[in-house]
Amino acid sequence: MNDTVRTAVIGAGITGITTAYQLARKGADVTVFEANPYPAMETSYANGGQLSASNAEVWNSIPTMIKGVQWMFSAGAPLLMNPKPSWHKYSWIAEFIGAIPNYEKNTLQTVKWALDARNQLLEMAKAENIDFDHEETGILHFYETKHQFEVAEKVTALLKKGGLERRPVTIEEIAKIEPTLKGEIYGGFYTESDFTGDIHKFTSALAKACTKRDVEMRLSTTVEKLRTEDGKIAVFSRVEDKHGSSSPGQSKEVFDQIVICAGVHSRKFAAMLGDRLNIYPVKGYSITINLEDEANQAAAPWTSLLDDNAKLVTSRLGKGRFRVAGTAEFNGFSKDIVWGRIAPMLNWCHRHFPGMSTSSYISWAGLRPMMPNMLPRVGKGNRPGVFYNTGHGHLGWTLSGATSDIISELVISERAA
Ligand SMILES: Cc1cc2nc3c(=O)[nH]c(=O)nc-3n(C[C@H](O)[C@H](O)[C@H](O)COP(=O)(O)OP(=O)(O)OC[C@H]3O[C@@H](n4cnc5c(N)ncnc54)[C@H](O)[C@@H]3O)c2cc1C
Repeated sequence: MNDTVRTAVIGAGITGITTAYQLARKGADVTVFEANPYPAMETSYANGGQLSASNAEVWNSIPTMIKGVQWMFSAGAPLLMNPKPSWHKYSWIAEFIGAIPNYEKNTLQTVKWALDARNQLLEMAKAENIDFDHEETGILHFYETKHQFEVAEKVTALLKKGGLERRPVTIEEIAKIEPTLKGEIYGGFYTESDFTGDIHKFTSALAKACTKRDVEMRLSTTVEKLRTEDGKIAVFSRVEDKHGSSSPGQSKEVFDQIVICAGVHSRKFAAMLGDRLNIYPVKGYSITINLEDEANQAAAPWTSLLDDNAKLVTSRLGKGRFRVAGTAEFNGFSKDIVWGRIAPMLNWCHRHFPGMSTSSYISWAGLRPMMPNMLPRVGKGNRPGVFYNTGHGHLGWTLSGATSDIISELVISERAA
């Protein structure tokens, strides 16, 4: 292997850091560019925490479309669409509809990656001794009506085709699996093999492990332009100091290969490199409740939950934190936290966990980098040396272990060639 081959990775979220780590482990010379002063400060900061093969169903289906349209006219619904026309949004919706015929194929692909990813991620955590508040208590999907449960039965059969076992559970079994859960429940499906963890803790620790493996971390460095030049890739960037002022000049560095892992900003970099990636920023929210005393700790669930009706997911992050996340807003790049989206999550907690206080919590909003067919783009670009590992949408935490392995193999095999 030629050690002078240089590879740039753009973005230090979960996709960028797992990519850099896998590349470094395979002997590559890697430089990561990240606009923030620390890794994992954007979408990989406070997500739902679920590593959920059981949530691998893609959204491209007629029933989901009908539900989506109904939600658009209901206040506090899990989906919000700003009707203001934008070519980006409407072209994305057109491609989303165009992917409906691939619903089954794309769901099976997602399950396969999610199952592969579990081992990869746990292996990285073990190799680097990473504590990420990882809980192996499974994921329980629960439903309020018989109809919802029957729809989920069909999804379960499809997931089984992809190799995932999730078993039906009665309300009596649900009460045993998660005794703190209250409210109107018809039944559920339980996936023992799924698990949860803190994406920010994991990514930050893996970034440190990358540095130990000689990955160069260019933090506080915004990439402004990419250009292919004589079969190489020029990266034009600017360093910003802690107080937000920029260095006077833009610097240029040339790399042999580049992997784009820039989350919702990958679309613009792809355009600079002659590729089209129609990633749309789909906004979501989370609240992280501080469980400050023993009574609250006992009243909050340990099993990770997915409420199919409210489209909310939960994870227990150690003894002292409980996270609830969800909602999907098609509203451009704004990350403003809107009270009208936080209140339904708090109300949901009061309804399902009446003994748990929400007097202390932190709200957060992030942008899911969503492809219209719901599959991440993992592979080569049109030009030599250009690669993508991005567009993981609502499952970036679940899938990155697998997609980083695939992309690092491709990058290394191109180097060898
Ligand atoms: C509310 C919510 C709940 C979620 N829950 C789950 C869940 O339970 N399970 C799950 O699997 N997934 C979940 N997700 C999805 C998951 O969090 C994302 O798919 C994942 O974090 C995306 O990672 P990323 O690396 O692609 O993007 P990011 O984490 O956003 O990383 C991209 C990085 O690129 C950097 N960057 C961009 N432009 C530039 C530039 N010009 N120069 C330098 N750096 C740049 C950014 O600063 C950023 O750090 C959830 C998402 C949300 C919003």
